[in-house]
Amino acid sequence: MKMPTHCPFCKDVMLTDYEQMWEVLHKKCSRRLGHNIEFVAEVHDNDTVDVIAIKVNHKKIIMWSLFHRTLTIKSTDALEYQLPFFEPELFSYPKLMGKLKTYMVFS
Ligand SMILES: [Zn+2]
Repeated sequence: MKMPTHCPFCKDVMLTDYEQMWEVLHKKCSRRLGHNIEFVAEVHDNDTVDVIAIKVNHKKIIMWSLFHRTLTIKSTDALEYQLPFFEPELFSYPKLMGKLKTYMVFS
C-alpha cells in the first residue's frame, strides 16, 4: 500500500511528520472526532506503508503491521494482545470497527 495523502475516511489532507532519526514518515488524521488514524512508512522503501495505527479512544490503539502481518491491540493498562491478521479495508470506519469487534469477541 502506498502512503496516502488524504485520510481514507474523511478525505482531509493528512498532517505529515518526518522523523529524521529513523527516516520514517508519519501521516495523521486526528482532527476529526469520529476517527484518529496514522500511517507510517519508511522513506527509503518507496513510501510503502508499514504500519497503520488507529487510536480508538484515549486508552486503546489498534496497530496493523503490514510488513510483519500482525494485528495488535495496545492499551494503556499495559495489556497488549494479538488478533488474527486481516488487511484493513479503509473505506468505512464503522465497518472496520465492526469487523474488529467481531474478531475481539471470537479470539
Ligand atoms: Zn480523517
